[in-house]
Amino acid sequence: MTVDAEKLIFNNALSIIENQSELEDLELNIDLKLKIKIKTQQLYCVLHQRFIQTPKGMELMKQKIMKGDIGCCPRVLCHKQTVIPYCESIDPANSENETMVYCPKCKGLFKPDYLKHQKLNGAHFGPYFAGILMLCYPKIVLNPKKEVHIPKIYGFKIHKESPLHP
Ligand SMILES: [Zn+2]
Repeated sequence: MTVDAEKLIFNNALSIIENQSELEDLELNIDLKLKIKIKTQQLYCVLHQRFIQTPKGMELMKQKIMKGDIGCCPRVLCHKQTVIPYCESIDPANSENETMVYCPKCKGLFKPDYLKHQKLNGAHFGPYFAGILMLCYPKIVLNPKKEVHIPKIYGFKIHKESPLHP
């Protein structure tokens, strides 16, 4: 692809994100429109990654997380700790970007509660957001003490040398 074609695709993608134009209104061939659509999705994803790491973006995300909009940890002993979106990749073009949620209390990764989050390209959040958010807002963890279930048999703890001991 030529530099002029790349520039045309990028400028149209940016224009769509800024609500200055609509893809349907562009008088271009279908192949170019498809490339602009893909570039728009990728560019939006990268902008979202960056925005949620700014002070304003982090504050907005913190509010969503604290309200439980992203969901809660499914682990019983986390007592409905709200979770942070996470993905191992930052590449929006990777088709296998699964959105996961990270529990800041038990440090576990889980599938999101909501279908809309499961369908989302996880690269919108990437692998760094959860760590940055926890550094900036350590109180996001409701009760930092991690509870561990200790199995008992007829009221007795399992011996520490047993392979069943947690
Ligand atoms: Zn948890």
